[in-house]
Amino acid sequence: MLLDHLNAKLEAIAAKSMTRVLRVAETGTAPHQQVRGVDGQSRELLMFCSNDYLGLAAHPAVAEAYIAGVRRYGTGSGASHLISGHSAAHDAIEKALAEFVSPEIPHARALYFCTGYMANLAVVTALGDAGADIFSEELNHASLIDGTRLAKAEVKRFAHRDVAGLRALLAASTARIKLIVTDAVFSMDGDIAPLDELLALAEAFDAWLIVDDAHGFGVLGPQGRGSLARFGLRSERLILVGTLGKAAAVAGAFVAAHPTVIEYLIQAARPYIFTTAAPPAVAHALLTSLALIRTEEGEARRAQLQRLQAQLRAGLDALTSEYPQLGWQLASSDTPVQPLIIGDNAATMRLAARLEREGLRVSGIRPPTVAPGTARLRITLCGSHTAADIDRLLQALRAAAQDFAAELAA
Ligand SMILES: *Cc1c(COP(=O)(O)O)cnc(C)c1O
Repeated sequence: MLLDHLNAKLEAIAAKSMTRVLRVAETGTAPHQQVRGVDGQSRELLMFCSNDYLGLAAHPAVAEAYIAGVRRYGTGSGASHLISGHSAAHDAIEKALAEFVSPEIPHARALYFCTGYMANLAVVTALGDAGADIFSEELNHASLIDGTRLAKAEVKRFAHRDVAGLRALLAASTARIKLIVTDAVFSMDGDIAPLDELLALAEAFDAWLIVDDAHGFGVLGPQGRGSLARFGLRSERLILVGTLGKAAAVAGAFVAAHPTVIEYLIQAARPYIFTTAAPPAVAHALLTSLALIRTEEGEARRAQLQRLQAQLRAGLDALTSEYPQLGWQLASSDTPVQPLIIGDNAATMRLAARLEREGLRVSGIRPPTVAPGTARLRITLCGSHTAADIDRLLQALRAAAQDFAAELAA
C-alpha cells in the first residue's frame, strides 16, 4: 500500500543521510535570524544561506510599499491575469522592468509571473514546441530542466560552460527553431555562463538565448541590471528570466523579451494562464524594491557585497592553503554565492552542523544537487552582513579546520 511504499522510500533516503529537514524561521529574513532548530529549540543564527543578496527583505521602504499596496488593492488578486487578476500594479511593474532591461533587450516587453519556477516552465514549454531543438546547459536549475521535460521539443544537453560542444550541437541541428537555455549565475557554484560566447553562437546559428538570471538580477552589472548588462550584451535574441524573490526581496519573476515573444507567452504559456495572479500588493512593493536596486541605495549595497566577498575570499584562500591536507577548495566565483568545496558528504554535513552549534548557518550541499565528491558549504553573502560577521565565519571555519586536521594526523 501507499504508506508502506513511501516509508520504504523515506528509509532509503535516510540510509543515504539525505533526509532534508525544515527549519522554522521565527523572525524575518536578515543576517541575524531567530530560527527553531531540529531539536525544537529557538536560537539566533548568523545566516549565510539566504538569497536576499542586497538585504532589501528588511528594508522599511519596501515594507511600507507592501502595506500601501494592500491598502489600495486588498490582499488577493481574485483571479488569473486573463480573467480579472491583472492589476495596475502588475502593469506598472512590467513596464518598469521592461524599461530597466531595455539597454540589453531592445524594445523589450516584460511579463510578471508568480514564481521563477513558473516563469522558467512557461518559457521553455511555450517556446519549445514540436519541431524545436532545445540546447540545455547541464548545470541548469531544476525548473529549467523540468521545463525541458515537459516541452515537446527535442532536448540536447551540453556540458558545463562547453561552448565548443554547444557549437557542434548547433551545427548538427536542422530544427527551424533553436533555443539555447542557460542559468547566468550557477546557483551551486557561483560561476557565470560565458554569455557573450553563447550569444555569438545564437547569432551565428539563428538561435535564441534564454537566460535565467535568478542570482544576477539586482546584483551584477551597472544599476544591478544583471548578468546580461555585466557582459554589455544587447540583442533581440535574448530572452531574460529574472526572479524577484532573491535580490529584489519580494516574490515572483519576470520574463523580458521581444514583444512578440511576450504576446505569445500570454496566449500559450500554461503556467501563466492557469494560475491566480500574485497579490497586486506584491507587484506594488516590487516597484519600490526596483527603485532601490537601480539607485544609490542599491549601488551602496552592491559595493558592500564586493568588500565582503573580497574579505571572505582572502580569508578562505589563506585557510585552504594553510590546510592543504583537508582538500578544501574555494570555488572560483565573483558573485555572492561563494562555495567552499569540502568533497566528502559526511565531512560537509559535520562541518555544517558544527557551525550551526556555534550559531552560524551555512547550507551543506551534497550530491545529487552537485557532482559526487564535490559536497560543499554554499556560503551566500548579503549586502547587510558586516565585516565582523565575515570574521566570525572565518574564525569558526579556521577552528574547524584545525580540529579536522588534527583528526587526520591522529
Ligand atoms: C531560485 C531559482 C529559480 C526559481 O525562482 P523562484 O522565484 O524561487 O521560484 C529559478 N532559477 C534559478 C537559477 C534559481 O536559483
